[in-house]
Amino acid sequence: MALAALESTREQFPILKETIRGKRLVYLDNAASTQKPDVVIDTISDYYRHSHANVHRGVHALSQRATDQFEHARRLLQGFINAREDAEVVFTKGSTEAINLVAASWGRTFLQPGDRIMLTEMEHHANIVPWQVVAQQTGAEIIVVPILDDGSLDMEAMAKLLDERVKMVGVTHVSNVLGTVNPILEITQMAHAVGAKVLVDGAQALGHLRMDVQAAGVDFYTMASHKMYGPTGIGALYGRRELLDAMPPYQLGGGMIRSVTFEKTTYAALPDKFEPGTPNIADAIGLGAAIEFLSPRLEDAHHLESELTLYTHERLSEIPGLKIHGTAPGKAGTISFTMADVHPHDIGTILDSEGVAVRAGHHCCQPLMARLGVAATARASLALYNTREDIDVLASALRRVREVFGL
Ligand code: PMP
Repeated sequence: MALAALESTREQFPILKETIRGKRLVYLDNAASTQKPDVVIDTISDYYRHSHANVHRGVHALSQRATDQFEHARRLLQGFINAREDAEVVFTKGSTEAINLVAASWGRTFLQPGDRIMLTEMEHHANIVPWQVVAQQTGAEIIVVPILDDGSLDMEAMAKLLDERVKMVGVTHVSNVLGTVNPILEITQMAHAVGAKVLVDGAQALGHLRMDVQAAGVDFYTMASHKMYGPTGIGALYGRRELLDAMPPYQLGGGMIRSVTFEKTTYAALPDKFEPGTPNIADAIGLGAAIEFLSPRLEDAHHLESELTLYTHERLSEIPGLKIHGTAPGKAGTISFTMADVHPHDIGTILDSEGVAVRAGHHCCQPLMARLGVAATARASLALYNTREDIDVLASALRRVREVFGL
């Protein structure tokens, strides 16, 4: 991306003009949540100013306007991931709720004692805990694919563990700690060969790389708006129609029924069957705006973030005593590190005093932390508005950490 184009992109994020503790904000906590461009903020505000009413059931003009905008956002999402039809896109609160929906609805219906759910050592708690509970409820068993030392998935181990007992493979597209980009097409082909379904947690992927759910052959794909320049409180589940049609509703109430008597309820067609109650209309529309913002920039952003990832690794490797966790080839811009015995929270606090926002902790990946042999890491994560200058500020702030701790 040409520098001028990048500058104009940065201009569109008002928060990047903030100063933090008197310093220019260097925002490197994008894996937790990205910042929002004007167009997303304005779209939400315009919606409430000019178009708000409840969707779907109204005959009046505002309700129709809100419904049109809400359903338009669904079609934008459908196009963005290349789903076959918009009904295969179910709005949820985020990736967490989307995984819970599949675990509870598909899992409780189709899993039996002796069945296996295959997860990986790099999963976020959101793609572990719902499966654990469903395993307890159904008598299914969880098996775990290990990672290699560079943070890539051990595909040989996966091949050995995969047999017809495995009914579901739950895998993250991009690791929120290691930055590893998993080979989704290869995984779906291997899983389908033994009759297993594949759920891909796309929370960390969609803001950074182009995903085609049909080409990748995934059965379920989960999305988090707030990590792709969209608002919080909204996300989506993609599911193949055949699977979603066969699944019972996850939550029950108004808006998801065809008819109700006290004796019996029949359910609405997709996607309404999985969207009871008043949905998060404004943020769905805001997510639509984020997709319109992101989609034309995605390839450039991917290229820029890949270069910046290499640069970050280079600059951080120059710092004595700093260890990067996750060096898989082609990794995304999520760089976790530890520094000698310094607690990651102390690293985060000192960086904050320099205006640099990173995250420190277990990143909701305690099993992965155990595999890495650390309690926590500090994590810098990139987005399309980050620059080499941001990384230079990070590197000098990390040298400050060394000074403070007398390293
Ligand atoms: N999976 C991964 C890999 C994540 O990084 C996160 C967010 N930390 C989630 C799931 C949860 O996503 P959401 O915030 O949309 O519920």
